[in-house]
Amino acid sequence: MRTLVLNAGYEPLAVVSFKRALVLVMNDKATVVECIEGEPVWGTRYTYDRPAVIVLTRYVRVPGVRHVPVTRRGVLRRDAHRCAYCGKAASTIDHVLPRSRGGADSWENLVACCLRCNNVKGDRTPQEMEWELRLIPRPPRGAQWTVRGTERSDPRWEPYLALAA
Ligand SMILES: [Zn+2]
Repeated sequence: MRTLVLNAGYEPLAVVSFKRALVLVMNDKATVVECIEGEPVWGTRYTYDRPAVIVLTRYVRVPGVRHVPVTRRGVLRRDAHRCAYCGKAASTIDHVLPRSRGGADSWENLVACCLRCNNVKGDRTPQEMEWELRLIPRPPRGAQWTVRGTERSDPRWEPYLALAA
């Protein structure tokens, strides 16, 4: 059984052995997102839950990642069609810092947003609304983030792999 490693932005980064995954977790380099129930790993002193998915504590920049152009569809897909503010199904995109106030059309400034939140927010910032973003908007890694070993994919990985697709 192998473990899916997510970057700190929750994009799939690699597939490693669960031993390597456990080492990362024990060294505080990663935290466990999903475990495999009923299959503990026996250590010398403790038993550990076998990690199915882990997320790195620090963001890893991967060299050679090409710039992915920003599209409305891409933003919705990156955010799994969930509103960045309320988590409901999103069909629109929102400029976190409104365009009218200098907000850019960038991956970092665009989030998926439901129609209701978009209308309510208008030309205000999340801070002004006292809203919190459910995610930190980042550029997706697209096809560059091919995860090796996915032919032996685990159903628990699917939501994370879908994000990178
Ligand atoms: Zn919403």
